[in-house]
Amino acid sequence: MSVSDTVLVRPADAHNARLVSNVHPPDWQNPTPAPCYNLVVIGAGTAGLVTAAGAAGLGAKVVLIEKNLLGGDCLNVGCVPSKAIIRSSRAIFDAREAGRLGVRLDAPAKVDFPAVMERMRKLRADISPHDSAQRFAKLGVDVFLGEARFAGPDTVQVAGQTLRFKRAVIATGARPADPLIPGLADAGYLTNETVFSLTQCPARLAIIGGGPIGCELAQAFQRLGSQVSLLHKNAHLLDREDMDAAALVQNAFIREGIALHLNANITRVERNGDGKIIWYKAQGKEETLPVDEILAGAGRAPNIEGLNLEAVGVQSDPRKGVLVNDCLQTTNPRIYAAGDVCLAWKFTHAADFTARLVIQNALFLGRKKLSSLTMPWCTYTDPEIAHVGLYERDARERGIEVDTYVREFKEVDRAVLDGEDDGFVKFHVRKGRDEILGATIVARHAGEMISEISVAMAARIGLGKLASVIHPYPTQAEALRQCGDAYNRTRLTPTVKKWMGRWLAWQRG
Ligand SMILES: Cc1cc2nc3c(=O)[nH]c(=O)nc-3n(C[C@H](O)[C@H](O)[C@H](O)COP(=O)(O)OP(=O)(O)OC[C@H]3O[C@@H](n4cnc5c(N)ncnc54)[C@H](O)[C@@H]3O)c2cc1C
Repeated sequence: MSVSDTVLVRPADAHNARLVSNVHPPDWQNPTPAPCYNLVVIGAGTAGLVTAAGAAGLGAKVVLIEKNLLGGDCLNVGCVPSKAIIRSSRAIFDAREAGRLGVRLDAPAKVDFPAVMERMRKLRADISPHDSAQRFAKLGVDVFLGEARFAGPDTVQVAGQTLRFKRAVIATGARPADPLIPGLADAGYLTNETVFSLTQCPARLAIIGGGPIGCELAQAFQRLGSQVSLLHKNAHLLDREDMDAAALVQNAFIREGIALHLNANITRVERNGDGKIIWYKAQGKEETLPVDEILAGAGRAPNIEGLNLEAVGVQSDPRKGVLVNDCLQTTNPRIYAAGDVCLAWKFTHAADFTARLVIQNALFLGRKKLSSLTMPWCTYTDPEIAHVGLYERDARERGIEVDTYVREFKEVDRAVLDGEDDGFVKFHVRKGRDEILGATIVARHAGEMISEISVAMAARIGLGKLASVIHPYPTQAEALRQCGDAYNRTRLTPTVKKWMGRWLAWQRG
């Protein structure tokens, strides 16, 4: 039985046809079910793919079920397309700024928006074989296309078949939360599920939500040619991040001409000819904002509906998703969850590493704990903000005293030479102990730099020790070692200094 020919990724061009042929092949035949599976995996985003591949590699009989596109959000409508267009947006920004580096272009650099989007679609299709149904079938996984729901304590139904399992994993991810703004649905709006299908750049684009998704796309579209208005309900963008870090990004946005509407409470939206009008209240005043398109990026909702969770004793919450314990086990001990559907950390690498944990716990009696993971993340604005561990406010809330070490990139030769000195590295160290509790980096490539700190934290290497690691000169990563030097200087107590002075005096005779 051919299962589906209805999945269409727009625009219907050769790149998207290649993508779909990999991640939802129109002529796919669901296999004949095995009598019983070690593991049923529902959802083939990062969490589901990693669980299925890992478990099959260890010899388990695994079924992977996907109702839409294998690869999930990350490949199709998340990380991959967003980072592709962010790369193009950096190229045009650099071209416009080239004069600062003494490079003159004969004519102003221009964006070819359809070409930017086509490049993204081509690269997404190029990457897609890795997540393809064909590859997973070759790995020994039974791939089913269709919507899964639990039918009983040890059965799942999909595409007219009933599959028996010993263990199941819910990896159904999340979707854009409905902004619940009167008139918005009627006026029409984009989300991350539709914005990457654009082939023309909206002249005036309003983005609702100043979190990571809203901010990354706001800067990318502003650079690619839209006049972006960013509406955020709170007083600062990226308000979960370190405030100094978020302020640098906010200032960059203002410099680049993004219109920021902070503390904005959107009251309604109306269609206006080909465009839309947003009504919002800010600082007690009612304002209107005429735009051509609206992109909603305000929060994520877990995909828990339609799974029949109550019937199998799996508790869930409309905001938090599937409820799990520290071993990622749901309230039904045979059923686990991984990725966005159950985590506050909505990142691809979090989905990946929770999947690895689930394999061990579900199939091999493991007791691996979510709380043991050292989880970094990065927001890919320019500059980027990367973070790992505790923020200062987390430490305060937990009653932990910290010493904070900051190195501004204005003091780091390579950042100055690169013209990228708007940023810093900040470490929080447990007071009185050489233990890194958390760190934030604001830099053009902060995401590439944070892993050194993650390694240090995971391996319990202190900041003092980082000072003894030789970093090539000149690199921006030297800022990390320099924080280590600053830490070590604080270890130079008056007593140690006195003894060193005496030793040197004795040496002089
Ligand atoms: C615009 C954007 C940019 C992002 N950028 C980054 C980034 O740069 N770095 C990063 O780490 N993270 C990023 N993320 C987050 C990242 O995409 C997610 O954290 C990741 O995709 C979560 O993977 P998952 O497997 O948990 O869920 P998903 O990728 O959502 O996969 C879940 C899958 O389950 C399927 N499914 C749902 N219900 C059923 C059912 N009943 N039956 C069968 N199948 C079902 C869905 O169709 C989907 O394919 C971004 C997200 C967005 C929206």
